[in-house]
Amino acid sequence: MGLTQDEILTRLRENDPEKLAELYRRADAVRAGHVGEEVHLRGLIEFSNICQRSCTYCGLRRENRMLPRYQMSAEEIIAGAGEARARGYGTVVLQSGEDLNMSATWLGDVVRWIKERYGLAVTLSVGERPVEDYRLWRECGADRYLLKSETSDAELLGDLHPPRRSGLPIRPELLGILRDLGYEIGGGVMVGLPGQSVASLARDLELFAELDLDMIGIGPYIPHPGTPLGEAISAAGGGAAGEAPRSDDQAPNSVSMTLKMLSLARLACPEANIPATTALATAQDGGQLLGLKCGANVIMPNLTPRMYRERYEIYPSPWRAEGADGHSAILAAISEAGRAVGQGPGGRRRG
Ligand code: SF4
Repeated sequence: MGLTQDEILTRLRENDPEKLAELYRRADAVRAGHVGEEVHLRGLIEFSNICQRSCTYCGLRRENRMLPRYQMSAEEIIAGAGEARARGYGTVVLQSGEDLNMSATWLGDVVRWIKERYGLAVTLSVGERPVEDYRLWRECGADRYLLKSETSDAELLGDLHPPRRSGLPIRPELLGILRDLGYEIGGGVMVGLPGQSVASLARDLELFAELDLDMIGIGPYIPHPGTPLGEAISAAGGGAAGEAPRSDDQAPNSVSMTLKMLSLARLACPEANIPATTALATAQDGGQLLGLKCGANVIMPNLTPRMYRERYEIYPSPWRAEGADGHSAILAAISEAGRAVGQGPGGRRRG
């Protein structure tokens, strides 16, 4: 990106509104030059909230016995893909908790049916799986794979994502394997996790560039009260975005820090597809419009059926509770940003 680690750190610690506006303008110009004016819409289908992992920040963690679990049928998922097609979206994103009992063949068939019926690009986000599963899904037509690490800080990552002891490679290595299989690969981070330093965010940006990510998701950490991390924050008197406990170099989980990260990610990876995330919209009204002005070029409207949507609660969100997919608000944000809705699959365009 032409910025040294020191320069990145300076920008992450910057609070001067004029200097920040200059950073956002620069990211917006790089976005326009490399991925253009289109905002690609990806229809998100959260098809199962069953998860065997115990991530300390996530409401889907297996210990959360208050959460009714669900798995959508193949027919329901395919109907969701049909809705994406009817709305003119070029991609459907199939996301779930990490459930090794979910049959790889079943998901492969779903992918194949979606490709045959609707010709949509398919992104999968179902966590860490054996390499043969990734290979099978690729052969069935899956185009992209999202596997967010949430942080490049190994110690913090170990606290957040207790290992499953399966002997699988770590996430950056898995991303390399996925790339070799022919997927477009996506990663990303949450901003402002307790214990996450500003310096580690700078390293995250370095890793995005090293991995040459095709997709980068960045959102503020929003505490879930029913998780160990959320409970610790409540006990310390925090709770809402922006109020996470601080150490000297603790990154705040603020909209401002998220926008700095988003802008710097655009500078680090000019060709990447970068969403203005729902977490950003949850943290602040109009958050997605802010994201679009700071380097983002993707939005992921939620097409999960309303009867399931409230149960995919990684973090609390009024968008989810209201069952709204935000489609009209998303179109309004795109229009207000002076941009156009993207056509076609909207994959990475290499310069
Ligand atoms: S972050 Fe993913 S793997 Fe971890 S508990 Fe939540 S759904 Fe499961």
